[in-house]
Amino acid sequence: MASNQRVVGASENVDAGAAARERQPYEMNVDERRVIVCYCCTCEESKTMLMEVGDSSPWEHDAKNPAHVVEYWREDDAE
Ligand SMILES: [Zn+2]
Repeated sequence: MASNQRVVGASENVDAGAAARERQPYEMNVDERRVIVCYCCTCEESKTMLMEVGDSSPWEHDAKNPAHVVEYWREDDAE
């Protein structure tokens, strides 16, 4: 048979890391507006974000400082 056939790492599990990582509140219910409160346990900064529909981006402080431990929680539930 053809000897130039290549097997390209077909079953490499690229999602392993993402699956192990917990989903954050800002990534959930992106089909509605959410109020997400962020708190950085490393430098004690905090912020309240109003997330628009379709917006699933993290707090920019978290994005800029990957080593910081940032907690998120959803504030609204009524509206
Ligand atoms: Zn921080």
